Amino acid sequence: MANEELIAEAMKITREYVNPQNVSVGHVGCALVSEGGKLHLGVSVHVNCDVGFCAEYGAVSSMLVAGEYKIEKIVSVHIGGTIFPPCGRCREFIYQIDASNLDTEVIVENDKTMLLRELLPEMWQMRPLK
Ligand SMILES: [Zn+2]
Repeated sequence: MANEELIAEAMKITREYVNPQNVSVGHVGCALVSEGGKLHLGVSVHVNCDVGFCAEYGAVSSMLVAGEYKIEKIVSVHIGGTIFPPCGRCREFIYQIDASNLDTEVIVENDKTMLLRELLPEMWQMRPLK
């Protein structure tokens, strides 16, 4: 799927919803294409006391429900119309779902993608002493 198509899918699901309890839903939308070519979508949810999650979590959850684990390409956008590359927590989350997701293409600008492995720092896993 072309970058602009995936960006448009993510923009379609963003919304500016804040209820009287100050619950914010959908300011960021995420669209991903799985290895199987399916589109999965998610929105951010933020409630009081810093409880909530990024849009990537919803899209990855949708993918997992479909029995898929590998992401071909992913993008997140803010309702204001800007691309919102995955935060550090989401980068780690995507990697831990399946290590082959290090080769996921992450849209960081309209016409620029980077591999997840380029966006993650040195891996944190334990290594034997020499
Ligand atoms: Zn995040």
